[in-house]
Amino acid sequence: MPPRVTLSFDNGPTPVTAQVLDVLAGRGLRASFFVVGERLRRPGARALAERAAREGHRIGNHSLTHATPLGVADDPAEVEREIDGMQALLGDLVPGEKFFRPFGGGGRIDRNLLGQHALERLVRGAHTCVLWSSVPRDWENPGGWPEVCLADLATRPWSVVVLHDLPTGAMDRLPAFLDALDARGIEVVHELPDDCVPLRLGRPTASFAALPVAG
Ligand SMILES: [Zn+2]
Repeated sequence: MPPRVTLSFDNGPTPVTAQVLDVLAGRGLRASFFVVGERLRRPGARALAERAAREGHRIGNHSLTHATPLGVADDPAEVEREIDGMQALLGDLVPGEKFFRPFGGGGRIDRNLLGQHALERLVRGAHTCVLWSSVPRDWENPGGWPEVCLADLATRPWSVVVLHDLPTGAMDRLPAFLDALDARGIEVVHELPDDCVPLRLGRPTASFAALPVAG
């Protein structure tokens, strides 16, 4: 069976979000957008997130400031601001299940992502924690990331890819990337595989034991 892929776009919304939404809409694809509070507060940004939600995309919490990873700043007040404060800012953009994606550095899954206080908040707040399995580093390779990603997708049956709806130029190659997925029979799905979701609605899944937590 050809591999499957779930697409995610982090760190927006920015004007590039509109470009990404146009591409996805043209192909009838749905993705996840993990948005940052400080970006959501910029002029015009909320309308982009509302459009994404209206068009069937998943809107997730990617922290209020995306400044210090919660595994580094494992402080209850900071955790509350970054997770709960951002969730409040999202408001009715997320009417149901609350999706949180932590951040670390360079797309690595390590103990920078979450500390004990953050984990406790996610569990008590019944959040679904969404990690990833493929990071083609589009921000530092805006022209070549699709080829890097295609090679990586071949290594597992179902990948969650992290891209960025940021003005790096990388999203200019999104149509070519999606064409290549089509050509290889790789299906783009909206669901999230358990191996990238250590918590669903605050409850541990089979991959919870592999979640690195600081402290
Ligand atoms: Zn991020």
